[in-house]
Amino acid sequence: MKNRMKVLIFSAAIILVIMPLSGCLDLDESDDDRIGIIVTLPPQIEMVEALGGNNVKVTEMVPSGQSPHAYEPVPSQIKAVAEAIAYFKIGTGIEFEVNHLDFLQEKNQDMKMFDCSVGVPLLEVGEQYNGHEHTRDNIKELTRGDHDEDPHIWLAPSNAKIMVRNIYDGLVTIDPENKNFYEGNLHLYLTKLDELINDTHSKLEQYTGREFLVYHPSWTYLAYEFNLTQLAIEESGKEPGPAELAAIIDKAKEHNINVIFISPQFDKANAEYIANEIDGRVETIDPLNENYIENLQSVINKLMNTFNID
Ligand SMILES: [Zn+2]
Repeated sequence: MKNRMKVLIFSAAIILVIMPLSGCLDLDESDDDRIGIIVTLPPQIEMVEALGGNNVKVTEMVPSGQSPHAYEPVPSQIKAVAEAIAYFKIGTGIEFEVNHLDFLQEKNQDMKMFDCSVGVPLLEVGEQYNGHEHTRDNIKELTRGDHDEDPHIWLAPSNAKIMVRNIYDGLVTIDPENKNFYEGNLHLYLTKLDELINDTHSKLEQYTGREFLVYHPSWTYLAYEFNLTQLAIEESGKEPGPAELAAIIDKAKEHNINVIFISPQFDKANAEYIANEIDGRVETIDPLNENYIENLQSVINKLMNTFNID
């Protein structure tokens, strides 16, 4: 009896020692009872985790540093899709989704598909060069189903508010028992987005209409929300030819622009060439950062700092 007791105590001690370590081991995924959620882009990770907390396990399809206009899913991602309960898509015709969503749904036909863009006012992809400027007044709002919408909806915080409401609806559909938990988290995150929006409006009020020059036009919705003007070097994914380059350089000089913003996903060479022509510099702003709110704050500060220079 005594010996059995010793064995029991010894086993319990071993379990107690091993248990905390097991957190570091790669456990079989069936032990993980979190809800598997797939998103297309890294900024959606923060949105889903802000609402879902420890109830969700989020996997992004286009990793940070890759382009959602070109990326192809790899086997480990297809495995995550096969085990997921739901997919929250961006829903705006971004190439990754157009090219791969049907295939991914086929890999997991039970996976529920939710569209983050429902209710987001869409803007057209505008002509970017040859004298065309994207100001708030000449950007066209589209009706749903038009095919020339600008896909980068997540980059305006007022759109993010609509996206997280759609995510909330999705989470409640999947897991209605935890509705109150998701609702509380939704309101906390909406409050943070409202703070970002109000703070940015007051910061940018004095810069209404000011121009910024980007390589890839990801920032149409941000410019639209805060009354800025986006000038872009690339148009519809095409590199500029010599005539377009000359027009951009003229525009930049006309507006005293001396910073070219590029996404980390893009090659610097063309941007460096233009920077040299306008006696300026290249700076990086990331449209796909996983820390959504913090990153937008940093982007807005970087834009604002260039407006201060004469
Ligand atoms: Zn893009």
